[in-house]
Parts: sequence; structure tokens; C-alpha cells
Amino acid sequence: MVNFADRMSQLKGSEIREFMALTAKPDIISFAGGMPAPELFPVDEVIEAMVTVLKENGQEALQYGTTEGVPRLREQIAERMKAKNNIITDIDHILMTSGSQEGLAFSAQVFLNKGDVVLMESPSYLGAINAFRTCEPNFIDIPTDSEGMLMDELERVLETTKNVKMIYVIPDFQNPSGKTWSLERRKQFMEIINKYEIPVIEDNPYGELRFEGEYLPALKSLDTKGLVVYLGTFSKILAPGFRLGWVCAEESILAKYNFIKQASSLQAPTISMLAASKWIDMFDLDAHVEKIRECYKNRKNTMIDIMRKELPDSCKFTDPEGGLFTWIELPESVNAKELSMKCLAEKVAFVTGTGFYPNGGHENTLRLNYSNMPEEKIVEGMKKLCRIIKENL
Ligand code: PMP
Repeated sequence: MVNFADRMSQLKGSEIREFMALTAKPDIISFAGGMPAPELFPVDEVIEAMVTVLKENGQEALQYGTTEGVPRLREQIAERMKAKNNIITDIDHILMTSGSQEGLAFSAQVFLNKGDVVLMESPSYLGAINAFRTCEPNFIDIPTDSEGMLMDELERVLETTKNVKMIYVIPDFQNPSGKTWSLERRKQFMEIINKYEIPVIEDNPYGELRFEGEYLPALKSLDTKGLVVYLGTFSKILAPGFRLGWVCAEESILAKYNFIKQASSLQAPTISMLAASKWIDMFDLDAHVEKIRECYKNRKNTMIDIMRKELPDSCKFTDPEGGLFTWIELPESVNAKELSMKCLAEKVAFVTGTGFYPNGGHENTLRLNYSNMPEEKIVEGMKKLCRIIKENL
């Protein structure tokens, strides 16, 4: 037997990724993953962009590049962050990563020693919890209401806890809860952060996918002290297969992320960056995002309408204004894992909520994704799911 590092004892595969093989079967109606609608990927346009890149700049596209990434793409990102998030930044404050997932893993490496404390919303993104675990922190999850993280609780924890080194938040259409922080909550949060001067990781993969209501400012746009590290990604507005995300942070922080990027993979893939950049120059990303929004809005409404009709008041669920997920809290007597087994027997899949809580528990919760299935499948799957829930109440 070989000996593994201590940290490996804390790591396990994500339930969702293990589920992916199972839910990829064509006869399964899956609300499990967080996958975009594949029929919306602009495949022909990507072919055109990719061929153009290889014809015009083939040698550059196949060569190593700088660690921070292709300047033109970072310029396009800076422009988009200003237009969509009111974040004033430039290419010197942007580092390209392999999806925002890599930005999460790097955040842990940059800020966390073993035993340090990381704060997050309760529940929070399972992939972030797993990424942070590699650095062996302790987790404290802060309760939320319909307006986001509870600020009194946050202050209480900050006042009474040593070694809080990082706060991880998803203020827009959170994964898994679908919740969005109100403007008031964002302002209060920044006041508290400015007082305690703790770095914040603002993860925003879904912000552009708003179906209704007003856009709210990113925390980063309210950040006067350079404490917010903003993670962006092309996964949900273009395609996750590019594996392109970015970190936007003030210089001294970004320099640390740059060192880690050098050590882990030198740079994001040149060909991917050039093709995405060319696609944005050749085609219309705003129009594309609008199509995605329209599609997910309809799918979300279909899913929520069925739950409204079918489920009794004792089952609580969120009605998100954007993003990919809704979150269900069943009466405490119902075990979502058992429910999941019964649903799988009828070829309907979802993920149970426990994994989204860093310290476990909450066995009565589950997450549903609505972006990946066409409406007729959502109807069929949700009718089964609601029936099985009612049978188990
Ligand atoms: N953060 C959140 C909140 C997510 O939901 C996801 C993917 N589902 C990611 C980060 C990672 O996305 P990617 O690496 O594809 O950018």
C-alpha cells in the first residue's frame, strides 16, 4: 500500500460528477447536473471561428502563451464586465483560468492554511466546498433568507471566530438555492467586509442569465478596498467545453493567482482563448445570451408551475429570477436520498442537498436543474417527482 497525503482523507468525488455517467443515459430525465442546453451551443459558428483562428494565426494558436492569457480576450472580458456588471477594470487585473472551477481551487491555495476558517452561504456550491477541502480548512456556513446571507449572523461569526481567512459567496442565482442577494444586503455585506478586511471570493457564473427583475451590482463593483476577487466564466454564456474562466482582482492578489497558475498548468489553452475571442468578434454574444435566457426562463416556469400545482405547502421551493437551479426543502421527516432512489427507479434523477452543506445534514433538501432538459421532459419528470414526493410525505 502506498501512503497518501493527509489531505486525501478529506476528499471524495462529487456526487454530481459520479452521477453524470448514470444520468447521461438517453432514457433518464435528469435534473441532476448543472449542464447548459446543448442544442443552444453555436456549433457552426464555433467551427467558423476556430477555422479562422487556425488559418489566420495557426502557429500562435498552437503555441504556448503568457500565463495571464490572450490580451484581446482579456480586453473583451474587461469591456463585458463594465457593460454587464458595472465593474471598472482592465486586462492587467484579469487572469485566464481553466473554468472558474480552477479559480476556486486557486483561491483556497492563495488564502487558506490547514485549519483556517472559510465562510460561505448555507447551502453553497458543492464544487467549491470540494475545491477548498484540498487545503483542509474548517467551514462555517452562514444562514440565508430570501435576500441572501444573513448579515447579523455574518457579523456574529466574524466577531467570535479566529482565523477567518476567506468568504465565498454567489450573490446571483446561487447554486444550489437559486437565491439572489438584494441590493441592501450587498451594501451591508461590503460595509462589514470593509470593517474586517477579509478577502471575498465572488463567484458569478450565472449573473447574465436573468429572466426577470432588475440587474443588481456585483459586489466587485462596490469594492473600494480591493478585497473582492471576482470569478467569471464562459461556461454558461457560451460553452463549458472551452474551459475558460477568469479571475479579476487587484494586483497584489492577482499576482499570487498568477504564480499558482504557472505552477499548475502554465496558462489556459491558447487555442481555446483565441477561438472564444474570435467568436465574440465575429458573432453576437448578447444575442446569444438572450436566446439562452429565453429558453431557461420557459423551462424554469414549466418546472415551477408543476410544483405549484402538485406539491402541498409543507414542501418549500425557490422560484429563481435567473440561473439554472431551484431548491426544495421537504418536511424534515422526508429523506431526499431515499426519494432519489425511488425516482431513479422511474428514470428521474436529481441531486440530494446534503453535499451542498460543508458540515453535512439537511437530508430533507434537494436541488433541481432545469436548463438541460426540453420542456416535455421537464413535464414528464416533474409529474413523476411530485407524485413520488407526495407518496413519501
Ligand atoms: N461556480 C459555480 C457556482 C458553479 O455552479 C460552477 C459550475 N456549475 C462553477 C463555479 C464552475 O464552472 P466552470 O469551471 O465551468 O466555469
